[in-house]
Amino acid sequence: MIKGDALYSGKAKTVYATADPKRYVVKFRDDVTAGDGVKKANMKGKGYYNAQISAKLFKLLADNGISTHYIKMVSEDEMLVHACDMIKIEVIPRNYAAGSIVKKYEFPEGTKFETPIIVMDYKNDASHDPMLNDDIAIALGIATDKELRKIRKISLRVNEILQKFFDERGLLLPDFKLEFGKVDKKIVVADEISPDTMRLWKKDTRQSLDKDVFRFDKGDLLTAYDAAAHLIAPEIFK
Ligand code: 5GP
Repeated sequence: MIKGDALYSGKAKTVYATADPKRYVVKFRDDVTAGDGVKKANMKGKGYYNAQISAKLFKLLADNGISTHYIKMVSEDEMLVHACDMIKIEVIPRNYAAGSIVKKYEFPEGTKFETPIIVMDYKNDASHDPMLNDDIAIALGIATDKELRKIRKISLRVNEILQKFFDERGLLLPDFKLEFGKVDKKIVVADEISPDTMRLWKKDTRQSLDKDVFRFDKGDLLTAYDAAAHLIAPEIFK
């Protein structure tokens, strides 16, 4: 796969053009950031783990009838994807109270929600991704009412699929972030689904195997991602 120009470089991934305007290559870099980029590091191999775990989870979603931007891996840390118009919303399904929801509301850390909570944030670093409601999203022209309903429905279904998958591997999924894009008006799951964008706890000890290890200096991030990858995608180690 011949990569063209870098079209966009985010905090941990770079998107490249290809010869086909309908396809991009996403490179998962070894950069890791937290707190809106205030805390930064580079860890060799991090991009590999996130790319491989994302690929595995995108394939899992496709096998369950969910459309995603993923096409195939083109190297160990690069994936070919459908070019999408990204929707500037971060959708966060939450199953257990952790992170910002504990800081903002009186949920004791680690309690399971009776039904999953869907939080939507406006993807905007300058204003620190403020929480959205449907009316604000529609007024900002980010998505239509119909698209928001579709996004919510897909997010709940993705949550069910991922929770079952992780449960079978001894893991809990307290929360995760999804991003969506449009390909020819069709809404697809885009971006990544990796330990950078989810909380993943070992069921027995509730040990974090995700970016909280870096955010809160809980240990070695690559060791945690390696443990997550062994459980999620053991085939990559064969
Ligand atoms: P919180 O709202 O607690 O900070 O995040 C909830 C979940 O969504 C966590 O699993 C977190 O990793 C993910 N998440 C939310 N916003 C972002 C973001 O801007 N970048 C990344 N990498 N993950 C996010």
